Amino acid sequence: MPADAAPGRLACSECGRTVADRWRCECGAPLNFADPPIPDHPAPDAAAGESLDTGDGLWAFAAFLAVGDDPADRVTLGEGMTPLVDADGWDAEFKLEYVFPTGSFKDRGATTTLTRAQELGVDRVVEDSSGNAGAAIATYAARAGIDAAVYVPADVKESKLRAIRRAGAEPVRIEGSRSDVTDACVAALDGDDEGGAADGTAAAWYASHAWNPAFFEGTATVAYEIARQRGWEAPDAVVTPLGHGTLFLGAYRGFRRLDAPAGSTRSPGCSARRRPASPRSSGSSTGRTRPTPTGASTTPPTGSRSRSRFAGRRSSTLSPRPTATRSR
Ligand SMILES: [Zn+2]
Repeated sequence: MPADAAPGRLACSECGRTVADRWRCECGAPLNFADPPIPDHPAPDAAAGESLDTGDGLWAFAAFLAVGDDPADRVTLGEGMTPLVDADGWDAEFKLEYVFPTGSFKDRGATTTLTRAQELGVDRVVEDSSGNAGAAIATYAARAGIDAAVYVPADVKESKLRAIRRAGAEPVRIEGSRSDVTDACVAALDGDDEGGAADGTAAAWYASHAWNPAFFEGTATVAYEIARQRGWEAPDAVVTPLGHGTLFLGAYRGFRRLDAPAGSTRSPGCSARRRPASPRSSGSSTGRTRPTPTGASTTPPTGSRSRSRFAGRRSSTLSPRPTATRSR
């Protein structure tokens, strides 16, 4: 970071306490960046000779990110600016998130989370994941030269284990429910349930895709990219998979932030869909009994949207509130 800059402080979403860094507030609520940057205008001012260098991938939107102020701190593999393609017959566009370095949108959050770790001088990160987030965190930790351990369910897919090991990270298999995996990971945080010292000196730092606000800075870039690819015009609706809600909440936050400077783009309706339970996933393995910062694993928020919204129905009255629903 520049000599006069410090990693962004965090503020509690419930009690308003601010801290230098920790994975959740003392009161148990999730933390967000206290002062996220809000540029004067999101779209480059062509008349003023401004342009956006898309060669920087999602870091082209650095002015919107609360991490990576100094390019030297950025932990990047050239991720982002994924294609947005027309889908004939759907009256919709698809964002091809599988072209990321590790094959999933989790790289959006991994690049910003490991950048935050770099800014804080972290030596070792831990994460718990049953899928793509573990591989993404492991890969970006390797890029940063930071040790990583990824706690996974004992029955995790072999392909996920291979991806974690290939990155040089240590997979730690945990028997029990998905919540048990998270509990074991948290217990590894220097023996401190709250994540160790608030000054970033903890032996292990929780690079959680569900809790770390730096992760959501990254997933918010999907909104910036969509807006830019549509001529700084927000779509009527965005539909995302749900899971832990990391992409869903990131998109929602991103469009809200784009909306902040003088209503430069209009927030679309955001709708999330959860795939039907498969024989492999029981109620406990989805973490439904555990509160999460996203709320995605608890009762869905108000309302639900049908697939007809995905069919491109035009409306000027879409609620900016996110909604979630389960697919049948
Ligand atoms: Zn609090």
